[in-house]
Amino acid sequence: MANVYYEKDADPSLLNGRKVAILGYGSQGHAHALNLKDSGVDVRVGLRDGSSSWAKASEAGLAVAGLSDACAQADVIMVLAPDTEQAAIYDAHIAPNLEDGDALFFAHGFNIRFDLIAPPAGVDVAMVAPKGPGHLVRRTYEEGGGVPCLIAVENDATGTAKGLALAYADAIGGARAGVIETTFTEECETDLFGEQVVLCGGITELVRSGFDTLVDAGYQPEIAYFECLHELKLIVDLMYEEGISGMRYSVSDTAEYGDLSRGPRVIDDHVKATMKTILGEIQSGEFAREWVAESTSGRENFHRLEAEGREHRIEKVGAELRGMMPWISAGKQSVQDVSGGQG
Ligand code: NAD
Ligand code: MG
Repeated sequence: MANVYYEKDADPSLLNGRKVAILGYGSQGHAHALNLKDSGVDVRVGLRDGSSSWAKASEAGLAVAGLSDACAQADVIMVLAPDTEQAAIYDAHIAPNLEDGDALFFAHGFNIRFDLIAPPAGVDVAMVAPKGPGHLVRRTYEEGGGVPCLIAVENDATGTAKGLALAYADAIGGARAGVIETTFTEECETDLFGEQVVLCGGITELVRSGFDTLVDAGYQPEIAYFECLHELKLIVDLMYEEGISGMRYSVSDTAEYGDLSRGPRVIDDHVKATMKTILGEIQSGEFAREWVAESTSGRENFHRLEAEGREHRIEKVGAELRGMMPWISAGKQSVQDVSGGQG
């Protein structure tokens, strides 16, 4: 079984006297910086010159500096820029300012696992990865809770890397929910697999395929939208609260029999074989190489696929129906308003 840590296991004093730099002020960056500040940690945000996030972070009461200055000031550096930008940021701003005994933190294992960044031996290298989007990391902290975190140590130069990672996870609220120990390899490979096969890739194609099947068969798009997308949240909430068996207990027997007898026909051996192939592409580094090449060459495929997705008919009917249900997003700030977004 995995090691799971809670607040009682964390020693917040390991962050005493440490100066933390958060590089980037996007989804994760704004949440880490604000939670650390509210936990009494000496934190500054490192941003590119001219970044549109500069004003947002300052207005939120945070110290802000250029990337190199923030790295020079800090002895704990958390890299929360996009994964595809981190290697260039490391070369230009982090590496020149790293000293033995410093700590370099990540929220995803990508750059270490695929050798895009190779820190020197005298530096602690660890991960604190919230298992949720940054806006939830901030909101749950403000509510007195937290988002569960993974921690991992890739290099323990000082002998305190794990304690420091746990103290950091505690300071952003993660230890209230549970902190699980893992490795960079396990976190990175399972994270990529989850988002490709189940959470993002799998679910969006499942929803759109179900929607298309109904609409192509002549059913009304509004009905298909409610059936295949809207109701998904209700089912996922039940699974989240009670597990799969708990969800099955709550739905009708008819729904449950359909689930039990038809589900394995949809997600069949062919699908499972594809999942294995995709896992292989992750483990071999093929996916990482493809994505880094795509990103550095201008993201042409990425933008084309994204635009095609926006044109799917489920988006049009969905926007109309959600417009009639303003309570769905009532009271929630747009995710683009709170953080610095891509700027
Ligand atoms: P993001 O895209 O929301 O924000 C990145 C921020 O980095 C931008 O807002 C900007 O302030 C800055 N930035 C962008 N390009 C830059 C550059 N070239 N140089 C310097 N700064 C730049 O990113 P995110 O989703 O917060 O991801 C940050 C890290 O956290 C990644 O390693 C990601 O894998 C990890 N992570 C994200 C989530 C999530 O749900 N978003 C969850 C867990 C871990
Ligand atoms: Mg993830």
